Amino acid sequence: MNIQAAIDTLEAKGIEVDLNPASVKSKSRDFFWYSPVLKDRLDHVTADFVATPKDEGEVITILATCFAHDVPVTTRGTGTGNYGQAMPLAGGCVLHLHKMDAVKDIQPGRVVVEPGCLLKDLDAAANETGQEIRMFSSTWATATIGGFIAGGSGGVGSVHWGALRDVGNIIRLRVVTMEESPRVMEITGEDLHRVSHAYGTNGIITEIEIPLAPAYDWVGLFVAFDTFDEALHYSYDLASCDGLLLKLVTAFENPIAKAYFQRVAPHVEESDALVALMVAPHSMPGWETFTNAYNARVIYRSDDNDWPKTPGHVFEYGWNHTTLRALKVDPSITYLQIAYGTDDPVALALKMRDKLSPECLQHIEVMRMGGKVSMAGLTLVKFSTEARLDEIVAAHEAEGAMNFNPHRYTLEEGGRQAVDERQLEFKREADPKGLLNPGKMIGWHDPDWGYDKMYAWTGLQPKAAAE
Ligand code: FAD
Repeated sequence: MNIQAAIDTLEAKGIEVDLNPASVKSKSRDFFWYSPVLKDRLDHVTADFVATPKDEGEVITILATCFAHDVPVTTRGTGTGNYGQAMPLAGGCVLHLHKMDAVKDIQPGRVVVEPGCLLKDLDAAANETGQEIRMFSSTWATATIGGFIAGGSGGVGSVHWGALRDVGNIIRLRVVTMEESPRVMEITGEDLHRVSHAYGTNGIITEIEIPLAPAYDWVGLFVAFDTFDEALHYSYDLASCDGLLLKLVTAFENPIAKAYFQRVAPHVEESDALVALMVAPHSMPGWETFTNAYNARVIYRSDDNDWPKTPGHVFEYGWNHTTLRALKVDPSITYLQIAYGTDDPVALALKMRDKLSPECLQHIEVMRMGGKVSMAGLTLVKFSTEARLDEIVAAHEAEGAMNFNPHRYTLEEGGRQAVDERQLEFKREADPKGLLNPGKMIGWHDPDWGYDKMYAWTGLQPKAAAE
């Protein structure tokens, strides 16, 4: 790798290059530190420089230059990903896409946008046409659409629209390859799985076309229950109501609300379980009828608020914001990402609660999966040791609750513990030197890996070298 030659070439070609060690280090980090395991392994990681393209032409220049000088390239939206997704494990170049943020075209039902556009800005542009994005990560205010497509899984809206990977939730991606002469490819249909959620390991997304939905002035609600069992049954039953339009259904085991949600805490007891909701205004009468049949206490509604301190967006209590809020109160908290499936997710989540609470506290996101209601657990874990964390993961898997391990930095370990052949095959085609976000795809580096312990990529920047 010839870093200096790459920098010289890029500067000569008028590309914005940042060499300031402090800002390069800060742009080399994401929210990996949610995991004490990743914090230990990746805290020292830093790129050599940051290149900021203004348009696709400059992306091509940067990729061709880095290819010529064997410099690794790790793409960055705004670095809110967990899993160390945006961290340049081997140093090299961070390709920062924040200046490619144009909303290019909005039509009924669809939008074309550059990857660096913030989710909230994209939503605002769609709102001007009476539309909104179907789903967004709870980092709506700070994350990019490119980072969401390349690193995210689903979020606010998934209770209605399913996960990002579900057919129909992405229409088209425009992708630049990492070759001597980078190619620009238009990806649609089955091929979308090759590059979506691939952490930028096999191509750089320069344009995105996604579907839009009609916009609503969603009503945010907090509903308290005497027990978590009731809260979870209510959440499942509510999400099963075909006639109600919902954007968020999140259930929190007690005492999460009292212990970690500062503005909610005065309105709940230690023993209260909480459900956070976003309901379309026209569904509110139906929602009230439904809720009246439960032992539920509505403690907050955004359309009729009497709290002296408003809680802000209800969705900023769900998804991975729950972990963030808990971490701020208790730095020893970390989390898991569990799939409770569709068979009987309520029973499985309650089983895990019975086995592991209070060391693990249930935080459940209700989603749609294959047309059925499913539950994802972003379980809060009181961290003690790595060995105990592994035991907790194993305890879930023993009960058939699949774990998307957020304490690992590879695609496979954070996914289904298996190589995604489509992504690997596309990497062979689009990144023949293996320079895109290296160290993140086990299938590329070590196809025979057995997944019996944490993968430790041998190319990871050594700690001493970075210090
Ligand atoms: P980054 O972190 O910068 O990048 C993410 C990955 O995508 C990296 O591997 C990066 O290399 C790659 N990448 C970025 N842009 C491109 C591109 N144009 N082409 C190719 N590769 C690219 N995730 C969810 O799915 N749902 C949630 O609800 C959610 N909630 C969160 C809450 C909190 C508090 C935090 C800290 C994280 C949460 N996340 C969630 C994870 C993360 O915020 C989202 O995935 C987010 O959308 C990532 O966007 P970003 O711009 O920060 O991407």
